[in-house]
Formats: sequence, structure tokens, C-alpha cells
Amino acid sequence: MPEPWDSHQFVEQVARARGRRIHLSAVPAEVMDDKTCGLWVNADSEDYLLYSEDSPAWHADLVICHELSHMLFEHDLEVTTGQQPAPARQPTDVDGLAAFLPDLDPDAVRSVLGRSGFTARREFEAEYLATLILDRATSSGNDSRQTRMLSTFLGADTR
Ligand SMILES: [Zn+2]
Repeated sequence: MPEPWDSHQFVEQVARARGRRIHLSAVPAEVMDDKTCGLWVNADSEDYLLYSEDSPAWHADLVICHELSHMLFEHDLEVTTGQQPAPARQPTDVDGLAAFLPDLDPDAVRSVLGRSGFTARREFEAEYLATLILDRATSSGNDSRQTRMLSTFLGADTR
């Protein structure tokens, strides 16, 4: 994990680990279906992670880590393999968002995942891991139990 903490750098690390580029964008709250939450636009070969530009930095970090956690847990596989109904794609999701994402090819979009796209259990998992990451990032102490849990989720290199 980046030290000192830098959420954008952490996004790059997760992107490298997954082998898929992640575009991080702050967008107006109006185009998000729930501005307290982020949005994960899953395209054919890359991902877009969106958060509200109104968010204070600490909240943006939480939202970013929350969405990264969904990616690390591969929660999208559940959605796209039909284990649960795919979220209805709202017109605002792609059309409204595309204006802010010039690199995005709307035809390449596989899913647009916001809070409504995941089960409560998956939301809890993502929030839990996000909290762990940020807690670790902002604490200077070396909590071995926490470090061990993070290693389990993120792989060995969490220091
Ligand atoms: Zn979520």
C-alpha cells in the first residue's frame, strides 16, 4: 500500500494486479444513481471507477476503496454470470456518464455497477475491506492482526 496514503496510487496498484486499466473519474453527483456510493463501469478490457466530485477527500477515498474492493472480490462475475439478475441499466448510467468519460466506448460496457447492483452481503464485504484498507492506511501503528487480514485479501505485499 502507498505510504503516505494516496488513493490514486492505490488504484494504479490494483489495476496492475488485475491486469486491467482503471480510469478514475470524479463526476457530478447528478449523474450518479446514488451519490453516497461509487459507480463501477465494467467495459470489455478496462474499468471506470467513478465517484462524486462533491465528496470530501476522506469520503472519496472510502468510495474508491469500496469500489476497488468489489473489483478485488470479483463481485462483477456474480452479476454477469447471472447468479443474480443483472441491474437494469438506467439511461443515465451510460449515456449521461459518457459525456464525462471521453475514453469510454458505450458499446464496450458490460455492466454499470452501483449499490443497487450488488446484494447486501456483497456491499457489506466491500465496505468492510474498504474500511480495513483505510484503517491500515491511516494508522502508523503496526497491527499484526490487521496486516494479516489484509494480506489475505490483497496478497502478501501490503506493507
Ligand atoms: Zn458497493
